[in-house]
Amino acid sequence: MQNPYYQNMIDSHFHLLSMEKKGLDITSILHSMDELGMEGLEIGLDADDLGLRSDRFKAYPFIHLSAGIGPWGVKDGMPTLQEQLSELDSQLTRHKVAAIGEIGLDNHHAYGTVHAQEELMRAQLELARHYGKPVIFHNREADAQFLSLLGEQPFPLMGIFHCFQASEELALLAMDRGFFLSFAGNLTYNANKTLQSLFAKLPLEHLLLETDSPYLSPNPLRGKPNNPLYIEHLYSYAAQLRGMEVEALIEAVRANFHRFLAQ
Ligand SMILES: [Zn+2]
Repeated sequence: MQNPYYQNMIDSHFHLLSMEKKGLDITSILHSMDELGMEGLEIGLDADDLGLRSDRFKAYPFIHLSAGIGPWGVKDGMPTLQEQLSELDSQLTRHKVAAIGEIGLDNHHAYGTVHAQEELMRAQLELARHYGKPVIFHNREADAQFLSLLGEQPFPLMGIFHCFQASEELALLAMDRGFFLSFAGNLTYNANKTLQSLFAKLPLEHLLLETDSPYLSPNPLRGKPNNPLYIEHLYSYAAQLRGMEVEALIEAVRANFHRFLAQ
């Protein structure tokens, strides 16, 4: 028997325009999210996407926006870092955001050079400080760099490590610095035993859940284009891992997300 959808779920990380590019009907997704009392963060990817997303989603008060340039901003053929950063800054003066991101480091795709990725990320840490906003970190195979970044004293910002799949050492340091760890659909994949046992023992007050849609659909929908409504599969899997009721997990994640928004 199909479960009814749960109410009031949080999705801390998704990309609506990328879903639309994959052919999903985001108007109907937004309508269902509204009916279910869902709330979440629509995440920016590039220097110039905030204005467009602001206009497009301003009618949906349960959709909060972030803006930032991911490590792909240093790929060949992109405008210079100076041009991208000043475009982002000018959009931030005109439109409201809840956070700066996603920003970070990616040694898996290895965009540009390690140095250029760090330079782009650090410039946006400055922007976050300037605007008084938390950050959304993208970390792909860059644990050592993030350990050294967060090890800098004092580290003045907090935020979210999105799609957390790093070591326990980084999890502990990130929580010590006040970060939330957001887990995505890959938590449900059979091969990710280490991630599952880490998730099961982390303190509840630092946890968030996300779809990262249109990517990373949870089991049993793996391989399909993802959307925020699919997050119910992640909630029920995650609640089982922690031996708690789904409703209690939803309530805890909701409280964490609201603490994050209040930063
Ligand atoms: Zn993302």
